[in-house]
Amino acid sequence: MGISSIEWTYYTLNLWWGCQEIFDLDGPDGQDPACHDCYARVRAANPYWWGKQTLFPVWGNDVGRRFFNEEHYLEPLKWNRAAERDKVARRVFCMSMGDWAEGRPDQKPILDRWLYPIVEQTPWLIWLLLTKRPQLANSLVPEHWRRDGWPVNAWPGTTAVTQKWADIRIPHLLRIPASHHFISAEPLTEDITLRTEWISGPFRGDIPRVAGEACLPRNLIDWVIVGGQSGKDAVPMNPAWPRSLRDQCAAAGVSFHYKQWGEWAPAGAKRPGTPGRFALIPTGFDEPSIELTEFPTSSTASGSVVMERVGKKAAGRLLDGREWNEVPPL
Ligand code: SF4
Repeated sequence: MGISSIEWTYYTLNLWWGCQEIFDLDGPDGQDPACHDCYARVRAANPYWWGKQTLFPVWGNDVGRRFFNEEHYLEPLKWNRAAERDKVARRVFCMSMGDWAEGRPDQKPILDRWLYPIVEQTPWLIWLLLTKRPQLANSLVPEHWRRDGWPVNAWPGTTAVTQKWADIRIPHLLRIPASHHFISAEPLTEDITLRTEWISGPFRGDIPRVAGEACLPRNLIDWVIVGGQSGKDAVPMNPAWPRSLRDQCAAAGVSFHYKQWGEWAPAGAKRPGTPGRFALIPTGFDEPSIELTEFPTSSTASGSVVMERVGKKAAGRLLDGREWNEVPPL
């Protein structure tokens, strides 16, 4: 673990590897859309990522998890010293290879020994505690967090890639007594409306300034992170969706981070007839009836947004010509 390739964090710490997908009767294969595309599950099944250790199954309710040694769990203390030396607060994403709030009994000793005390000992680190189970999160933390508020450097977040899951998870997230709350909308799979009660209220801006101190709880979204889909089966994202979230955030004073387009990006000005892998998305917000083509012509493209499969790297992360790297203030 260490310096992360994920654009919105500096470090990543995994407390363990392994998880159980969340089920959703409406989702692909009966799973939450984000779990359906879980890259961690794919990575955990690849012996390459296990190094010298022999791979064992870590996905599902009936198998164990891959835990680590003390040296691994103490790494954040080093990161905190470096951040203090550099006088810059650094973000830590916990965790990329599972869900810290999965709620299994074998995970509790790890949380109690290696997460909560370390969060309290690292005021120069901002802990991004992302979960798809925000309804469990507050019941798993120490009693004094629940009573006095989570430390100001512990930011709970949840994943919401559809309106349905936003409406289910965000109210649970915002009940957590924390200074900051964030949403990860990746891969964004439809237009999402941020409900008024999630983004405006009497406490916006009224937050403590000292990292490590208990916070004055607020119950609003502070940060929205958006990205498209990557991987071999990635589908294009309608550009209207990230634009809509960006504009809703701007209107509400919520920080907006555009992580990436994913595999597909708005097509550049290619000559009609130039071969490639294109998707035509009808202009608007609706679930796209995507038409795939190798040769978009000016007539087939009219009335459509043309997306091209160029690969994640080439697709980049510019939205309407600029990067969006906003982060809420401490
Ligand atoms: S790690 Fe996250 S995306 Fe993957 S199965 Fe668990 S909850 Fe779902």
